[in-house]
Amino acid sequence: MSREQARQVLKEAQRIAVATHVSPDADAISSAIGLVQILRRLGKTAEAFCDDDLPARLKALPHAGEIARIARGPFDLLVSLDASDPGRLGKAFAELQGIPLLNIDHHITNTHFGTINWIDPSAVATSEMVLWLAEDLGVTLDAELASILLAGIVGDTMGLRTANVSPRVMHEVTRLMEAGASLPALVDALFNRRPLAAIRLFGQALAEARMEDGVIWTVITREMRAASGLTHANDLSLSSFLIGAEEARIAAVFTERDDGKVEVSMRARPGYDVARVALAFGGGGHPPAAGCLLPGPLEEAIPPILRALKAAARNSQGETQGEH
Ligand code: AMP
Ligand code: MN
Ligand code: MN
Repeated sequence: MSREQARQVLKEAQRIAVATHVSPDADAISSAIGLVQILRRLGKTAEAFCDDDLPARLKALPHAGEIARIARGPFDLLVSLDASDPGRLGKAFAELQGIPLLNIDHHITNTHFGTINWIDPSAVATSEMVLWLAEDLGVTLDAELASILLAGIVGDTMGLRTANVSPRVMHEVTRLMEAGASLPALVDALFNRRPLAAIRLFGQALAEARMEDGVIWTVITREMRAASGLTHANDLSLSSFLIGAEEARIAAVFTERDDGKVEVSMRARPGYDVARVALAFGGGGHPPAAGCLLPGPLEEAIPPILRALKAAARNSQGETQGEH
C-alpha cells in the first residue's frame, strides 16, 4: 500500500474527516491541520479531530483552535494520522465506522488497521509524509502551511537532533524555511518553554531516578502532580532527558494518571529497541522512542516493564547501531 494510493483516494474524496492520536504531540497536530489545509486548498470539505485537549504549546499553532473533539458528519473518508493502532484515535474511530479509512503513519509498530495503509517508518514524522502529499497533490507551500508542517518535523526529531535526520530531511527543512517557516521560533515554542511547575516536578522526579542494569527510570505519582499543579505531566519529555545519562542504554518514566492508569514513556540509545517492548504491552512507537498505557496500580505496572526493558538493554542490535 502506497503513497500513490493515498494520493488517489484523497483526490477522489470530497468530505474528509482527519483524526489524530490522543495525548497529541506536535507531529499529531501538525500533520492533521496540515492535511486539512491542503485538502481545503483543493476545494474539499475537511475537518480535524482529536479526542483530547491540546497542550498550550500546540494550541498556538495556526488553526489548532479549529480542531474538534467529536466528528460531525457526513464524511466519505476518514484519514488517521500518526496513530499506530485504532485505540489511539479515541472516539474518532468508534464514531466514524462504515466509511473507508486511510491510515497514514510512520510508526514501525502500526497495526495496518486502515482500508488503505500508507506506513513509512523511514519518514521522520507523519508531517513529512503530509509534505510529500502536498507535492503529489500539486499544493504550493505558503508560509502558514510550511510553518505547520515544520512543527511536526521539528517536534518528532527533537529539534533536528535525532539519529534519523538525513540530508533529505535537511533539504525539506530548507524548503519549508524558504517558504516562510521559522525554525528558531518553532524550536523555541516546542522545546524551550515550559511552566515553572513542570521544571520543579522534573527536579523531584530526577532526584528519585534509579539506575539498574543499563535502565534509568523514575516515577511521577498522582500526588507529585497534584502538588505541582501540573495537569499534562507527559509534556515534560523527562524520558528524553534521562536517556542522556552516560551510564544508561534505556530510560523509562512511569506517570500515574488521575484515572489510576499508568503511562510509560520509553527511550533507547541507538542500537537498542523500546518499540518492541511497548508493542508487547499493547502500546507502540519507534525503536528509540515508544510508549504504552497500563491499567495500574503503579506497583503492579512497573516490575514487568522493568524486566522487559532490562532484557532489551542487554540486546544490542549490533549492525544497526546508530541507524535509527
Ligand atoms: P512519548 O514517550 O509520549 O513521547 O511517546 C514516544 C512514542 O511512543 C511516540 O511515537 C508515541 O506515538 C508512541 N506512544 C506513546 N504512548 C503510546 C501508546 N499508549 N500507544 C501507542 N504508542 C504510543
Ligand atoms: Mn505522535
Ligand atoms: Mn510522529
